[in-house]
Amino acid sequence: MEDDDYKLLINGKLVRGAATIDVINPATEELLAIAPRSDRDQLEEAIAAAKAAFPAWSATLIRTRGAILKRLADAIEVKHAEFSRLITLEQGKPLLRAIGEMNATIGLLRYFAEADLPMKVLKEDDKQKIVQRNVPLGVVAAIMPWNNPMLLMMIKVAPALLAGNTMVLKPAPTTPLTTLRFCELCANILPPGVVNVIVDQNDLGGALTTHPDIAKVAFTGSTATGKKVMEGASGTLKRLTLELGGNDAAIVLDDVDVKTVAPKILAAAMGNSGQVCLAAKRLYVHTSQYDEMCEELGRLATAMIVDDGLKQGTEMGPLQNRAQYEKVKTFLGDAKRDGKIVAGGDALDRKGYFIAPTIVRDLPDESRLVQEEQFGPILPVLRYETVEDAIARANDSEYGLGGTVWASNLDRAFEVASQIHTGTVWINKHLDLQADIPFAGSKQSGVGAEFGQEGLEQFTQPMVINMAK
Ligand code: NAD
Repeated sequence: MEDDDYKLLINGKLVRGAATIDVINPATEELLAIAPRSDRDQLEEAIAAAKAAFPAWSATLIRTRGAILKRLADAIEVKHAEFSRLITLEQGKPLLRAIGEMNATIGLLRYFAEADLPMKVLKEDDKQKIVQRNVPLGVVAAIMPWNNPMLLMMIKVAPALLAGNTMVLKPAPTTPLTTLRFCELCANILPPGVVNVIVDQNDLGGALTTHPDIAKVAFTGSTATGKKVMEGASGTLKRLTLELGGNDAAIVLDDVDVKTVAPKILAAAMGNSGQVCLAAKRLYVHTSQYDEMCEELGRLATAMIVDDGLKQGTEMGPLQNRAQYEKVKTFLGDAKRDGKIVAGGDALDRKGYFIAPTIVRDLPDESRLVQEEQFGPILPVLRYETVEDAIARANDSEYGLGGTVWASNLDRAFEVASQIHTGTVWINKHLDLQADIPFAGSKQSGVGAEFGQEGLEQFTQPMVINMAK
């Protein structure tokens, strides 16, 4: 077991929780640590502290806040190895991927530390001057899922703080440890109350999102919970960023070299054991290359090394928690019933929430594995005859997060990508999220944007000052 000296952060103080929760290592199913759990009173204290800290923090110069964020990035960097290891222990992903998550987390913090919200002159003539300032909103609640605990926390914290807001953070109950370690750094570097961290057992989200003193909710999680957040936020018309589920299609055009693209497609589907909102979750392959692609993906999936993420050489770790593991097993059952398993198809016969990388072919479009978000290491490979048909089927989804087109002819690929109804489409690459490029889900995959200047401005209210000369 790890040290169980984890504390909540409320009003600048590291405090015990009113209760505790057990945090489980998904690779061993053993107790990893005991984390503090907040009660309703501690939630109220956290919100009150953030509210009290807002006037002073929002009054500081943006460059002062940027400098403080840089100090925070330096402090995280010093503990890079410790954070990476802890991500693997609580989340399950291979250590190399955890290191990648930490690199991206620090990169985001440094990007926003340098960002700016300059006053814009909208109009000026001899009679008038009209300007727009982007002012902070107040207390922001940040609610995170369990698949990328540090990255998805930082994409909220960095822009919200730079813009001058104060915050209450709530990590997912199964991955609170890295956020709790992060709050120790906040306690040393930020003024009291600017960041507060509470932990729940999936029971305080509603109180947080309906609270009258919360001005904005920045939420990443499932579409079902996102709808509850939206409903809860309506009482006081809170601002919202919702980054929700996806069922991303990957379309392979018939001019590719199957052996070249298959490893990249497999990585797009199996990365983080498929627990990526933007993972390739349905693959459309032209009938002329269908058999070859299924065979190649099956060969590669069978060869993947699935093990504890701390073991050197591990390519895929376990699913993050038992509930998700049980859910993914029901998808395996459906896949066996409705289609043909090319590789995998079962949970591993060992301790830990391990599922073999699974490739399924010959599934009907109506199958649950095609219609719903599996959020696990199972890729359905679907056959198409015409590109128009592949595009129509890719778009036949309530989700609209991302997608990919794999092709040799880039003009043709661009034409296909332009017809996909999602917030992001990649061509011949995948999951390339850059700090200065906005990312936004369409349809039921989200509301608002994260990353880039657009992501920063989502933590502000545009305010116009219109003066006569
Ligand atoms: P989830 O919706 O179950 O939980 C997310 C968070 O919401 C957790 O912190 C949870 O405690 C909290 N929560 C639970 N009930 C709540 C309520 N009533 N009000 C407010 N908060 C509440 O999601 P999950 O299972 O942790 O994460 C997986 C999902 O997240 C997948 O659907 C995935 O696609 C999505 N996701 C989306 C993105 C994106 O950027 N679009 C990124 C990562 C994950």
